[in-house]
Amino acid sequence: MKKIAVFTSGGDSPGMNACIRSVVRTGIYEGLEVYGINRGYEGMIEGDIKLMKSSSVSNIVQRGGTILKSARSMEFKTPEGRKKAYDNLVTLGIEGLVAIGGDGTFTGAKVFHEEFGIPTVGCPGTIDNDIYGTDYTIGFDTAVNTALDAIDKIRDTAAAHDRIFFVEVMGRDAGFIAIESGIGGGAEFVMVPETQTDLNAVVKSLREPKASSIIVVAEGDELGNAEVIMQLVKEKIKDDTKDFKVTTLGHIQRGGAPTARDRVLGARCGMGAVRGLLAGETGCMSGVINNELVYTPFSECIGQHKPLHPDHLSLLDILRI
Ligand code: ATP
Repeated sequence: MKKIAVFTSGGDSPGMNACIRSVVRTGIYEGLEVYGINRGYEGMIEGDIKLMKSSSVSNIVQRGGTILKSARSMEFKTPEGRKKAYDNLVTLGIEGLVAIGGDGTFTGAKVFHEEFGIPTVGCPGTIDNDIYGTDYTIGFDTAVNTALDAIDKIRDTAAAHDRIFFVEVMGRDAGFIAIESGIGGGAEFVMVPETQTDLNAVVKSLREPKASSIIVVAEGDELGNAEVIMQLVKEKIKDDTKDFKVTTLGHIQRGGAPTARDRVLGARCGMGAVRGLLAGETGCMSGVINNELVYTPFSECIGQHKPLHPDHLSLLDILRI
């Protein structure tokens, strides 16, 4: 293998740049030519691909977002779109791919790999932490810390006015950001898609006098978003003296400088992806489990819902007493 290409796809996450940098420099270190594909599968279809040098990835390790930009591509979901993408790779002589993204990106990579057989290794780039085959995904730690910082600030105003805050965090249908920011931020309740929350218990707790009350709601909770849940609680509590507020953190959770953990994880997964390609690994993701680099087939990464840790669920009950 002499030429490989790297791209970022789906939702961006802090630490993707550290991962790109590691892929480019590991590739060059190993004697490869490394190409960068702009805007994920969209750029692969359009041939928006450039040769990268070591200096192409200078001064990016500390930046959020992705220098290769990211996109969602409908055309790549069609056989014609994927054929165009493959032809562009063949024209440039690219023999291996590193795909940085989430489960959608790996679904696309799996289909592409099965169709054309081009060796492909993924790196788990998503803030949601919902990828099987790695303890943590690149961007998760930064997103949790951003949410935590916001919760700390909200607590100040909640305490000053005895307000009850419902704080909605990202994570799609996974509750990892909610549970870790909730535990770290001392939330009274954390509502996650993985478990059912007893609203009567929430109401009972909120009736007790407290300096402030913060309820963290994962965006994918089955009862609805934070606004809907706030209304449900308000109707049940029947107390006009209580002041309810909703804050949806939104895209600030995606941005910002990556934490040290995300930079190191991105670098490590990137190195693992290139070394994996050279060692004949393909159709799999380079992740870190129990502090070891491991390769997990795409089919396992995308086919399973990673569970929340039972200790984290226990802590929610214990710490609010
Ligand atoms: P995040 O979890 O952060 O949203 P993601 O990688 O899951 O990131 P998606 O938008 O779901 O983001 O997927 C990224 C891209 O992968 C899609 O825009 C599409 O081009 C490609 N893709 C997803 N599913 C398929 C599929 N079944 N076949 C081909 N390509 C796909």
